[in-house]
Amino acid sequence: MKRLALRWMLGVSLLLPALGAACNPVKAPLARPRLVVVIVVDQFRYDFVERFSGLFGPGGFRRLVDEGAFFTNANYVHTPTYTAPGHAAIFTGSIPAQNGIVGNNWYDRDAGQEKVMVSDDSAKIVTSYGTQSYTHATKPASPRILLGTTIGDQMRLSNGFRSKVIALSFKDRAAVLPGGREANGAYWFDASSGGFVTSDYYLKELPEWVNRFNAEREPDKAFGRVWDRALAPSAYQLTQGVTTEVKGSPLGRHFPYTITAGASSPNEDYYKAFQYTPFASEYLEDFAKAAVEGEALGADEYPDLLAISFSTPDLVGHSYGPDSEEIEDTYVRLDRVIADWLQYLDRKIGLANIVIAVTGDHGVCPVPRLLSLNKLDAEVIDPNRCKNAAEEALKARFGGDKWVLALVNDQLYLDVKLMTQQKADPAEAERVAAQALLGVPGVAACFTRTQILSGQMAPGWITQRVSNGFNAKRSGDVWLITKPFHFVGEGEIATTHGSPYDYDTHVPLILFGAGIHANRYFSECSPSDIAPTLCALLGVEPPSNRSGRVLVEALAGR
Ligand SMILES: [Zn+2]
Repeated sequence: MKRLALRWMLGVSLLLPALGAACNPVKAPLARPRLVVVIVVDQFRYDFVERFSGLFGPGGFRRLVDEGAFFTNANYVHTPTYTAPGHAAIFTGSIPAQNGIVGNNWYDRDAGQEKVMVSDDSAKIVTSYGTQSYTHATKPASPRILLGTTIGDQMRLSNGFRSKVIALSFKDRAAVLPGGREANGAYWFDASSGGFVTSDYYLKELPEWVNRFNAEREPDKAFGRVWDRALAPSAYQLTQGVTTEVKGSPLGRHFPYTITAGASSPNEDYYKAFQYTPFASEYLEDFAKAAVEGEALGADEYPDLLAISFSTPDLVGHSYGPDSEEIEDTYVRLDRVIADWLQYLDRKIGLANIVIAVTGDHGVCPVPRLLSLNKLDAEVIDPNRCKNAAEEALKARFGGDKWVLALVNDQLYLDVKLMTQQKADPAEAERVAAQALLGVPGVAACFTRTQILSGQMAPGWITQRVSNGFNAKRSGDVWLITKPFHFVGEGEIATTHGSPYDYDTHVPLILFGAGIHANRYFSECSPSDIAPTLCALLGVEPPSNRSGRVLVEALAGR
């Protein structure tokens, strides 16, 4: 008996250290950043980080890349690759099929008209000069159309709405969608008043700190300033923009630009032109600093979210293309903004208390005309040619008139009532339209609603991106996919984005700061992975619709 008891005690004492280890495994404490900063650069193609790195200083993008987790193979897994779907994917960790953000615009069948995705007729614009139904340059916007939650929504849900969520951009969609439904404030630039505005979805009047910031009239101080290269001309290698093939922006065709928009004093034309200059990104950074102070972000134990989307690179990119000195200089100067922003955050809150994510909302196609001057197959397709081809084919097959209601996001919306009236089987009408579109030069493939929803698609990246981008309630009936380096041209732009090809889907993805394991990662991933990763880091539930994965490799103590 005694021997047994002794053996039992010995056994227990031998077991104890092992039990102790099992109860208290060695693990890194969950990083609890006080502030999450998500920076989106509008039209930020992956290769910009590599191509321009020699021009960057040590404290901006290079610091993020060197000291952060840099993912070199992040691709959007959806098309169309536009600003609204890109921002929605980042902040919901999801895809248009699930979050419902199928484009910047869409055709609302119930209303019988094309609409801006985030426009909200039930809201009003809130400016420093009071509340208005709209201003000349801005319409009311809200996230009401967004399905599911965002990072910020989940942060606020996790602690009884104590986390603060603030989103800022020049574009309404790039502020409204990142903020999600529970944002404390989302602010965008109004070229009518030359200041930041919101909608009464969020607030009945602008907070004091926004009014104070607007009263500074910072854009006015750039009136008459000259935008020239920040570095010696010999430092720039991308000079394709200096050709007659590029239309240029409201600023003109090439350096140097005097920023007045032909006005004698700041007016709406001037404020519109101002957004095309690097001074606009400096101005947005100053607004972000005002937000940190005005909202006391990162000041308490409840983590806050600040989303900043820099729109200027997109405007410059559309006008001059990705291979221009203008885009190169835009990024050189944005790099300085990022460096200053990191220093500011360190001084104000301490970088050890902050986690930062940086990505782009989409990439961009090189200027087709410049490519075709070389040996590449590249062209801009006339949208009317597409609409007419489908219209004629449907008319010939089924009779009737005005089959095509709209061409939005390269998708034809057909008149369903006319189908019934002409006794046309929807799948057959879609097929007839698709066949006609295939005859238009530059069109590589077509997918019909029936095909997509029943999964009758060949496997591969392109078809996967198409079906991820298709929302049954909001998308069209026939979707045309152009050949690479082709796009359906709309408006006076040198180039654009929107395709399922890598030049539009491939963006940098950088995580930096508290809890992040620094390295260069070559794993295939997506900006939709940012939301679940940040939520994992914060110890909160991921957004409701998320399809992205947690980037486990980048989490320190994994
Ligand atoms: Zn764009």
